[in-house]
Amino acid sequence: MNVADSMSSEAPRPNGSSVATGLRPSVRVLVLDGAPLIRQLLRVHLADLDIELHSVSTIGEVKRAAAMLVPDVVVVALPPDPHAAIRTVEELLGGLATGLDAVGIAGSGAIEVPVLVLAPVEASEVLVRSLQLGAFDALRVPFDPDELRARVRGAARVRRRLDALRRQAQRDALSGLWNRAFFDARLDEEIGEALRHEREVAVIMCDIDGFKRLNDLHGHPFGDEVIAGVGELLLAGRAEDVPCRYGGEEFAIILPSTDIVGATDAAERLRLGISSLRWELRPQVAVTASLGVADLASIGRRGRADALVAAADAALYRAKRSGRDRIEVAATAAD
Ligand code: GH3
Ligand code: MG
Ligand code: MG
Repeated sequence: MNVADSMSSEAPRPNGSSVATGLRPSVRVLVLDGAPLIRQLLRVHLADLDIELHSVSTIGEVKRAAAMLVPDVVVVALPPDPHAAIRTVEELLGGLATGLDAVGIAGSGAIEVPVLVLAPVEASEVLVRSLQLGAFDALRVPFDPDELRARVRGAARVRRRLDALRRQAQRDALSGLWNRAFFDARLDEEIGEALRHEREVAVIMCDIDGFKRLNDLHGHPFGDEVIAGVGELLLAGRAEDVPCRYGGEEFAIILPSTDIVGATDAAERLRLGISSLRWELRPQVAVTASLGVADLASIGRRGRADALVAAADAALYRAKRSGRDRIEVAATAAD
């Protein structure tokens, strides 16, 4: 299906837009149709096997539809009157910081959507203003259909490459886990959600025991194998959990909608899982870890991300002091 005309019943429908079911085509285009005559034109010229087309007719709708659809490109067909066109551009692109570039899929971070502006032929100031305000590209109407399709595909290509780079920047290369920067941002979000919906959220801090000695005795490649192996184990955990490499041989896991009891069970499974891992480079070596667990109740549901991490870290420190290869749980804060 190249022009999407149906909506899935459970998705909220932004007026006039549509969501196709089935596999995602290679280019998803959202059109803001400020000039109704152009809608038909675009339907004809962007109708192609790899293009899925959605349209809306107001700026409010474009932001809502973009948040829902996560399009590869937004095509803005401006009204023919240059003053109205500039007003539209300023309202749309001037608001981008809180609009389209805040479009994101939970957990993947914000994505930016390139905007391709179609401006009336006689108004070059509209093109200039659009580009100045951050439009990715601008074309005059009437346009050459081949050129339009090539520009739409070009914008989608750039968007996807940027997205791939951004995802890469959120991962730790050795373990495959989320990195520290992602952890910090995601924990803030999860705490905000938990407070809003009166839910719990827990954090497990996990530190490999005697890792310096393992490196010294068996070499850094073995140490690296251990970090990669623990990463693999963590990635095989519950899909809702967010496993991160916090530092050298330290791991942190965010457990949404989980209280201290559930998080302690998860930590115990992890501790057992780590101690039963077997290694290619040193099959006889057993590796253990110490873990600290805390939830929002541990910090009186008042603190922020750093307080939750500090509570889990203090528990981890107690686990280390009391002999390693064990779990300690943060005490519940008195109200
Ligand atoms: P403890 O039981 O108290 O946790 O002792 P430890 O030796 O694990 O703790 P310490 O923090 O003293 O040592 C961590 C070591 O981890 C030091 C550093 O050289 C090593 N390390 C950090 N990142 C990497 C890495 O990516 N690869 C390898 N092979 N080693 C790393
Ligand atoms: Mg450490
Ligand atoms: Mg350690």
